[in-house]
Amino acid sequence: MTDLAPLRDFVIAVTRLLSDQPTERALLPVVADHLRRLVASDTWLPDAWSTASSEQYCQYLLHCDPLERFCVVSFVWGPGQSTPIHDHRTWGVIGMLRGRERSTRYQRDRNTGRLIEGETKELLTGDIEFVSPRLGDIHRVCNAQDREPSISVHVYGANIGAVKRHLFDPQTGAPGEFISGYTSASVPNLWDRSG
Ligand code: FE
Repeated sequence: MTDLAPLRDFVIAVTRLLSDQPTERALLPVVADHLRRLVASDTWLPDAWSTASSEQYCQYLLHCDPLERFCVVSFVWGPGQSTPIHDHRTWGVIGMLRGRERSTRYQRDRNTGRLIEGETKELLTGDIEFVSPRLGDIHRVCNAQDREPSISVHVYGANIGAVKRHLFDPQTGAPGEFISGYTSASVPNLWDRSG
């Protein structure tokens, strides 16, 4: 059986951090340190939460805080798969577990509402990236590998699958509302300590 201890330790660490009600500015670097440690090894992620689908990218829920203060999600990209341009409406820290992904940032012009393309960053295994309304919240992400799946682990400051957020038309910048949900119907059992 997969040893889930690294994921359990991560969940405990972030839960502890949030009990002090830190500001986002104080919180994110510490979450990033813990996430860097988590993605340093990929043996803890069970197959059911790391399998690509030929249909579209998968977002598997790994854990949701009972108070919905944070959640942990594995994003699994098949070859050539990408997200639409979207926002998050909360903070997010992204850690690259396997492979590579490419993230392009956008800003919306205040007057016209059109999207202005910003920086494109390639995340390599072990890299960390941030999103938030404070730091820049709109992006598009794709698998940077043509033949292999890539996997990143995302931590968000909410139950992200239940947050009402936006997709944007790439031409006009017009927003549409969406609630992503999750690909998975169950979460890994972090609490069986018999193994
Ligand atoms: Fe995103």
